[in-house]
Amino acid sequence: MSKQEKFYDLLDTLRAGVETAGTLALGTLGLACEGAEKIAEGVKLRYQAARVEGEMDGKLMEAGEMVYATHTGNPTESEALVEKLREIDDLKARLAELNETLGRKPEGPFCPGCGEAVEEGDRFCRSCGEKLD
Ligand SMILES: [Zn+2]
Repeated sequence: MSKQEKFYDLLDTLRAGVETAGTLALGTLGLACEGAEKIAEGVKLRYQAARVEGEMDGKLMEAGEMVYATHTGNPTESEALVEKLREIDDLKARLAELNETLGRKPEGPFCPGCGEAVEEGDRFCRSCGEKLD
């Protein structure tokens, strides 16, 4: 191999390297864009989840007040309470859906012994060994 050939060989190697690097950079850029989109989507979903959670908290408080009003001798129509509870159920379902989309674990089930989250289908708590139903 002449000096010139060696030089061209070296240039080829360099070019191949640049091309590979270019492809990698573009690939990373593509991934970055996809990631940003996912993050934006995640932020939107988290915002929605927080709003549903807030709404649910409000309704739970209202339901609590209804129950408490019954205790203080100022009973709420049971239908109104059932309606309120149904609204809470709906919100809870929506929240679970949002959380699932977000890849978060939906709430519960929890160990009755230690309060740690347990897996669906576990017979015993992995933290404290409590028997689960
Ligand atoms: Zn436990």
